[in-house]
Formats: sequence, C-alpha cells, structure tokens
Amino acid sequence: MLARTESPHPGGPGRASPRDIARWCAGRGWYVHPLAPGLKIPPANCVRCRETIDKQPNPHYIQHKVEECRCIEAGRHCHGVRAATTDLALIDQWWSENPEYGIGVAAGPSNLLILDLDMHRSTPPEAEKILPGLDLPDGLDPATISSGLAVLDLLCSLRRAPRLTESPETFSIRTPSGGLHLWYAVEDGSQWSMDGRGRLGWQVDVRADRSYAVAPGTCTRDGIYVPEGPCRTPAPLPRWLANDLARAGLKRRTPLRRPLARLNLPDLAAGRGYVATAVREELEAVAACRSGRNDQLNQSAFSLGQLVGAGLVDRDDVHQALTEAAQSAGIDPHEAKAQSTIRRALEAGSRVPRRIGAPT
Ligand SMILES: [Zn+2]
Ligand SMILES: [Zn+2]
Repeated sequence: MLARTESPHPGGPGRASPRDIARWCAGRGWYVHPLAPGLKIPPANCVRCRETIDKQPNPHYIQHKVEECRCIEAGRHCHGVRAATTDLALIDQWWSENPEYGIGVAAGPSNLLILDLDMHRSTPPEAEKILPGLDLPDGLDPATISSGLAVLDLLCSLRRAPRLTESPETFSIRTPSGGLHLWYAVEDGSQWSMDGRGRLGWQVDVRADRSYAVAPGTCTRDGIYVPEGPCRTPAPLPRWLANDLARAGLKRRTPLRRPLARLNLPDLAAGRGYVATAVREELEAVAACRSGRNDQLNQSAFSLGQLVGAGLVDRDDVHQALTEAAQSAGIDPHEAKAQSTIRRALEAGSRVPRRIGAPT
C-alpha cells in the first residue's frame, strides 16, 4: 500500500505508485522485491516453495535450495529478498500482480549498507550494552541514552565525527515508529555480512548482505516510510564508521590465501613449512583481532620481522600481507599509525633474526 500524498523522490510523480517507486529504485541499481501489502515482510512463497502452511508440513512443498529455486529462475518472487531484481519487466509483472505490494530493497546486491536506528520505548540499557566493546565517556549516565539515535550520536562524539542523525547528508528514511534509516553506499556489498548479530550498538541495527530495507513511500499498517530531508542519494559509508562496523564483526574477513600466496617463501626443504605456518598464524591473529589491534599488529610484525631478518621472507611482501590482514580487522590500510607500527616492528624484529628450529 502506498500513501497517495507522499512523493518518494524529488522530481518524481507526486502520487507515485509502488510500481513507480520500485522502478525508480531499480534505476539506481537497487535490487527490489515485493512486500506483502501493509506489512514489512515479503508475501508468502508459492505452494511449492513453502515448507509449512499454518505451521503444518506442506504436502506440495518440493525440497530445494534457494540457490536452485526454479521459481526465481522463472522470474517469480518466491523467497523474498533472494529474488530481488533490477529487471523492469519483472518489476512491472510483480507489481501488476498486486499493485499494493510494498517495496523491499536488498542491501548487499545493491551495494548498500543501511543503519536502522530504533526509537523503541524501553528501559535504557546497561552501560556495557550501549556500544559493546567501547569505553564510554566517564560519567555518562546510561539513563540519558533513550534510543538508537542517541547511541549513534554518542558513537559520533566518541569518534569526533559530525552527528549523522542531524540533517543527515545521506539518503534517510523516517520509519512509522519514529526511527531513522540511514542509507550508505558501499563499494562491494558482498564484503558486509550480518554476522555479529547485525548490530553496532543498542537499537542500532544494520541491514547488509541478504537483508533488506523498506523503500520510502511504502505504507504499512503502522504508517508510511517517509524520506527525511532533501538528500536522495546514499553517501559513501564514512570510513570511521566502516571501521567501527568491522570492529563489530560485520565485515567479512578477506580470504587470507591471497596475501599468503603472494609471499615469496624461499624454497628451503627444512624450513618452508615452518615459515608458511608461522606467517599464516601471525596474519590470522592480526585479521581476527577485535580489541587491542595495534598491540597485536606490533607483536605479529615483530615476529614476522624476525623471519625477514633471517632472510626467509621478503620484507615488502610481509608488510603488504600485514596491511591486508589489518584491514580485515578493520584497520584502514592508509592509517599512518598502523603503517608506522608495521614498519618499526618489522625493523625491530629483523634485528633479531629467528633461526629455523631454534626456540623463539
Ligand atoms: Zn516458488
Ligand atoms: Zn523456491
């Protein structure tokens, strides 16, 4: 259902139909799928794609993986977000099937990451649940934190960044319950996952990967999703925020084989396996690190520096591999502090070369 009085986008038709909005989204490269009229969830799958009906096993269900669903192949919208498309012919077909369908936008395929700030009225959280893993300012009274918007404001002030909730300079949508969705463009939506429970802080949820956001103009039983402010383009995800999302476990660790494969490991019959293992372990430790990252980087770079000093690995290759591993842990590869840590620790380690077979 769509409110007939709200325009979802400037310059668009004043009374845009859901189909027009879906087409508008697709024109921006956003993958859309229908939502059940009045609801925030997709319509039910077809009878062959539903395991249960009214919680009872469905005798017509044909067991299949979503990736192999014949319905999606045939252009039907079973499995909701997994069927999302930018194909205008499909969009026309789906929204003529039911003109009252709302619009979901699949985050990952659209290279979007959406912060979902809630305004639920509930008891303020315990301090450690506000921004898990971060030290809050001394004297902060958790009772003053009353919503997801306040939590994001707090994170912005901790990072000395402008408040993202105040006249947002990105595409943002006010939800019927008063929450705010901030839409950000990411380079590669597949890098972001919903691991770490898809949450940055209390009442700060993340829509990425195979989750979706409700497009503006969609009307649910609770009300309309309305664009906030004049901006209709998702801004690039701020770098500091990307780092915090990575810290919260929302960024996929890049496969470590790539930097490892590029290392020039000398062909030492006795030492090669040992060197490869040592290098892999250090890189994994850096990439997996969620707190005390700089200490871990320092320690691992020193340890690998010892292999550099022993002539077992190339310094530039190790530097590059450490940079990439640190990036997996959410450290900006251009961050001067991290680069200087790597350089100095490699140098220090290389002055104490490790001998193969000798204890470290
Ligand atoms: Zn189906
Ligand atoms: Zn199916």
